[in-house]
Amino acid sequence: MEKLKIAVQKSGRLSEKSLQLLKECSIKLTNGNRKLISVSSNFPIEILFLRDDDIPQSIYDSVADIGIVGENEFVEKNYPLKIYKRLGFAKCRLSIAIPKTENFDSLEYFQNKKIATSYPFILKSFLKKNNINAEIHQISGSVEISPGIGLADGIFDIVSSGSTLISNGLKEVEKVMDSEAVFIGNPNIKTTKKEILEQLLFRINSVQQANSNKYILLNVPKGNLDEVIQIIPGMRSPTIMPLIDDEWCSLHSVVNEQEFWEVIDQLKSAGAEGILVAPIEKMIL
Ligand code: ATP
Ligand code: MG
Repeated sequence: MEKLKIAVQKSGRLSEKSLQLLKECSIKLTNGNRKLISVSSNFPIEILFLRDDDIPQSIYDSVADIGIVGENEFVEKNYPLKIYKRLGFAKCRLSIAIPKTENFDSLEYFQNKKIATSYPFILKSFLKKNNINAEIHQISGSVEISPGIGLADGIFDIVSSGSTLISNGLKEVEKVMDSEAVFIGNPNIKTTKKEILEQLLFRINSVQQANSNKYILLNVPKGNLDEVIQIIPGMRSPTIMPLIDDEWCSLHSVVNEQEFWEVIDQLKSAGAEGILVAPIEKMIL
């Protein structure tokens, strides 16, 4: 039977979350990520473990059908591939930073300056769009030390908390793009493989829905039921169950976890008690 080949980062910031996502989709893999290839015993996929830099090209060359990479890597490599799904993890941004002691007013600062980066394509397009004529110095690792050793005036690199910048005496002055892990693939995938991909995306959607929603149960005095139903966001038709105590009932529903926390105080003042919040494993819409 035909298998969908998925390229996943061998070891790095994307690896664990990528495998976890497949696991949450109930996909079993026969061996760990030590091997180059892993096959699933219960879903028609094969995992290829590669360096993230090599994933876009491996898909372009049809070595893999789809892959999970940071959007930054996908945009930088600039292959004619398509994003099938945004995955919401490995969130970071690509920004330009300069020594913190420098004054910065506008991008004009970078005219005729030198910027070190591992993302020359993205930086070049950004500078061109803003009519800045700066020299791009391409290096592959430890970009953040280059201003300190006199290699460049600024850097263009991945930022998440900003602590690496701070510890290298740098400050972020311009965000160029946001990034997160994405599922990429050739725009034209042959029908048999497309069907497997669609099943996989369906499972991922169910997992993502489940992760952001919770099953809630609360006891409510019957007289306050309408008020409570108004408070809980997005609740269309909650289940109401009787309790031994005739004055009370139990209300069950599914709510977005974030929205739920925003209304918890209102629920309590409307008399809700015994509030339980339980995880949902899969949510099929
Ligand atoms: P490889 O050895 O596979 O080439 P790498 O060193 O190039 O790995 P990692 O550091 O593992 O790459 O990062 C992989 C991706 O994770 C990045 O391209 C980016 O999208 C994302 N990422 C990197 N740093 C962070 C961070 N601090 N927070 C969140 N996401 C990040
Ligand atoms: Mg890499």
